[in-house]
Amino acid sequence: MQISPKILFEHCYGKYAIAAVNVFTMEQVHGLFSSGEKANAPFMVQITPAARNYAHPEMLMAMITAASKIYPKAVYSVHMDHGDEEHAFNAIQSNDYDSIMIDASHDSFKGNVKRTRAVVEEAHKKNIVVEAELGVLSGVEDDLSVDEKHAKYTQPSEVQEFVELTGCDSLAVAVGTSHGAYKFSGGDGIQFKILEEIQRRLPKFPIVLHGGSAVNLEEIDRINKAGGHLNEGASGVSPEEIVKSIAYGVCKINIATDTRLLWTRVHREFFRDTPELFDPVIPGKTYMAEYEKFMLEKFDLLGATGKVSDMKF
Ligand SMILES: [Zn+2]
Repeated sequence: MQISPKILFEHCYGKYAIAAVNVFTMEQVHGLFSSGEKANAPFMVQITPAARNYAHPEMLMAMITAASKIYPKAVYSVHMDHGDEEHAFNAIQSNDYDSIMIDASHDSFKGNVKRTRAVVEEAHKKNIVVEAELGVLSGVEDDLSVDEKHAKYTQPSEVQEFVELTGCDSLAVAVGTSHGAYKFSGGDGIQFKILEEIQRRLPKFPIVLHGGSAVNLEEIDRINKAGGHLNEGASGVSPEEIVKSIAYGVCKINIATDTRLLWTRVHREFFRDTPELFDPVIPGKTYMAEYEKFMLEKFDLLGATGKVSDMKF
């Protein structure tokens, strides 16, 4: 069942978090929906402009619609991640999305407000909710790349005015997470003081963490043992920090890197261990099974397992 993140966030605030997972391929859509149904956990399917440029928006939506039939008990929202105006307005018109992120976080405060406000006005006409971002995350994801010296934490003093001026429905904040596999090179982790200050100024308002992948070092090690050359210094957000952030109003945790590392590990090991094979279906099956296992553990960690049962629709 496709529902608005509004319902999900009201239900989870302060208690558990919604995994918001980026999908690019059929295997990922299967893995996400099958795990959500199995865990009885609500989730968000995220589509980026890069995914739309890769697979085509129609193809992505057709896969999600098919998955909702194959896994009829799955409860989910469809979200556009890191939309620019072109993709955001196109997504609003398509009527396929429940939620859109407009990422104008690289602009000035004023510019961010103006661009966010314009998307909110259009989206709200169709009951589509809008996620905005304040502060700048470091890291690399799809077409986004920000080095650490240009990253900046969200200023708690700005959040209230920003939400009031834009009318956005949730806020992505920069509090120490980053995009990609190489996080926290400064070793500071999540800044709970900032999160606490944001929550004080925006009580009950849903907060979003981007770059929520754990980047398991065992995965990095397996990838490198199977011919990869990933930096051993890769690191992600610790599970303890993610869990702790939920009490501070974090409702949505974005996950992309972990599912990419999983893909890389499964395929590298397949090519290393069975060089005589050339059938994409074989590693594809392994990937779907491993993806499901990964997501079941993630739902458990976020406290989302079983939560569909006590939601009222
Ligand atoms: Zn992001």
